[in-house]
Amino acid sequence: MSKSIRKPAVVLFEDIIQDQDKRQLDIQSALGKAATVLVYKGEEETPQDMPVEVLLEKLLNSHSFNDGHIGLIVSDRELGRYKSGVISDSVVLAVAEKMGIPVCLYERGIKRSGTMGKLKQWKIKEIVVDGDSKNFGEECGQVFHGFNNIARKLEEIPGKDFKKMTPPEILARVLDREEEIDRIALYGTGEQSVLLEILAYIDSKNPALELKNRYPRILGNWLYTSLLRYPGILLNEIAAASYLNIHEDDFRIPKINALFKEASYKGPFSDRGTWWWRRELDRILENNKCESGFDYARKKSNKQVRYCQCMEGKDHPAGFYCMINEQPVCREHSHGGVSWFPRGADLAMISDREYKKIGPFVGLY
Ligand SMILES: [Zn+2]
Repeated sequence: MSKSIRKPAVVLFEDIIQDQDKRQLDIQSALGKAATVLVYKGEEETPQDMPVEVLLEKLLNSHSFNDGHIGLIVSDRELGRYKSGVISDSVVLAVAEKMGIPVCLYERGIKRSGTMGKLKQWKIKEIVVDGDSKNFGEECGQVFHGFNNIARKLEEIPGKDFKKMTPPEILARVLDREEEIDRIALYGTGEQSVLLEILAYIDSKNPALELKNRYPRILGNWLYTSLLRYPGILLNEIAAASYLNIHEDDFRIPKINALFKEASYKGPFSDRGTWWWRRELDRILENNKCESGFDYARKKSNKQVRYCQCMEGKDHPAGFYCMINEQPVCREHSHGGVSWFPRGADLAMISDREYKKIGPFVGLY
């Protein structure tokens, strides 16, 4: 069987021995036959004369771990309790990067981690799920499928095309949106932590081949932690409501929501949330000769539809999205262009209220 069609494995790093089976089972039942979940149990003897990263890489490339054919590493954010004591979370992250394997971290009590915790996690571009969630296995499965979908899409690109394509062109192809190349490229400026991984391979003997194996990780991280997170190309539910100027509660009404069905996002990770293509929303309004989603919804379905209020004052419409409160906000009552927001995310803001609190730290995080 060739490597490309061989079924990938998911490797779990959980340092609390008594939790290993439960987590493995959770993820396995979510994945079904799509992948086998293997656990790094941490019981191996550690040879003293080998750097721990080398040791782990060797192990993951061994037969016990599907010869390194790994579609996703699921890892506890803090791995301090392995018996061997040397495999830490930073070692796992470093080896995953070296091998080009995507990573999904989990954290207990992620909801309690607060604003700064969230900002930090965004800044370092991590994919994190809630380790306490009753849907833990399913969430890991969704992340796996997102990366796996990208891998399958990449297989469809002929090698001779692939060699000539830039990362934004490849991502646009994966998303079936060649028209978004320029905007996707804007999301790349300033995204060093995601795209830096590409630079390391430009000088290798066969960069195209080397990169093709790594692209699921690189593009998946970019899509998940940037394009889907910061509204500009793709808008989450609240950002879409704000952009369309339809009250977010009204936007959830199926009859109203259905007006924009054509614009809904169905690409990789689409089961991790709800998103709309902004360009498609514009197209729907244009085709119906409406100035705003508010006009369109009123005309088409319901005279009672309310406009989308700014979180800083209920008497005026929003239009933009506060990344901290995750609420609609207007341009006047918010700050945009935060240095670590991707350049193309022109709807992503920090509201005045939040900026007052965290303004001094925004540059840091
Ligand atoms: Zn306002």
